[in-house]
Amino acid sequence: MWTDPQITEMRAALLAWYDQQGRTLPWRVRPEDRAQGLSPNPYAVWLSEIMLQQTTIPHGTPYWFKFLELYPTVQDLAAAPLDDVLTHWAGLGYYARARNLHKCAILVTEAYGGEFPETKSELLKLPGVGDYTASTIAAICFNEPTSIVDGNVERVISRLHRVEAPLPKAKAIIRKLAATLADPERPGDYGQAVMDVGATVCTPRTPACETCPWAHWCQAHRVGDMTDFPKKSPKKERPVRHGHAFVLVRDGAVWLRRRDEAGLLGGMMEVPTSAWADDMPPLEWPVSADWIRSATDVRHVFTHFELRLSVHTAQIADPLDLEGRWVDIGDFENEALPSLFKKVLGKANLPQT
Ligand code: SF4
Repeated sequence: MWTDPQITEMRAALLAWYDQQGRTLPWRVRPEDRAQGLSPNPYAVWLSEIMLQQTTIPHGTPYWFKFLELYPTVQDLAAAPLDDVLTHWAGLGYYARARNLHKCAILVTEAYGGEFPETKSELLKLPGVGDYTASTIAAICFNEPTSIVDGNVERVISRLHRVEAPLPKAKAIIRKLAATLADPERPGDYGQAVMDVGATVCTPRTPACETCPWAHWCQAHRVGDMTDFPKKSPKKERPVRHGHAFVLVRDGAVWLRRRDEAGLLGGMMEVPTSAWADDMPPLEWPVSADWIRSATDVRHVFTHFELRLSVHTAQIADPLDLEGRWVDIGDFENEALPSLFKKVLGKANLPQT
């Protein structure tokens, strides 16, 4: 552990690096922009943080721009129908986040007068806002001296200290270590600086220690075993579930229905499927027709399991006695269709439009 003067030096080295080499991101207000009187917009920061959970910056950034264009303020987002929000979210995955995003916008609008609360403890009361997001908004937007710890920060801190405990058990240790280094004057910049070091210098496989502002103090760098950290507990194998998907076609349209609000992909659109089970469930057709099975199945990886769906397509003539509605094949983009069902429709034997 370092002395107070060492910690002061480490903070100064990190912040000097950030001032010169930190990333420019669209939702970020850099120190030089602050000098011009700009300040971070909590709505835009919150939106970026929710979108970038489990999503890379290149993939998430166009969605951030799209949402800000469609819903320039939190009140605009609150006033939008949930269905529209889910449709525009499609492709970002983890749809519970989109539902919480909408709930949170409504709460901020109705209970907080359209202004995000300014402390971590109040932010934690918002739907979909956990410790990391609350810390980030509080530190970046309201200068609360709280430390931000994401996967990049975990890697940097675990190397800096050669933390022997494996993740996820090491999270609490890493959090404490990160907090001792957090800069009380510039907590937002400190947090963003460590994240940037993790993203651009202290990368998982090839850390560029020679350009790192903390190389002088880094224990893993001294020993030379940087890539042994963070230690990880052995991964459990992801279970596989199986099922069938049924694509019903009539007059250039496909039958879609809405999934239950509760549970995985809640409220999103889907084609009818069987149950998803550990063993392939028996084939029970939703309607009798001439079904054609696609040559290849769909594989889709969720956080806790992998799903394999066989895809069956049938042309039908009669109206259906099922819940749902016909959607023209050219109109899928306007539906809240998760990637899984886009894959299913991609494999189905659909007529050319
Ligand atoms: S010195 Fe190397 S291992 Fe240590 S924090 Fe910097 S980049 Fe990572």
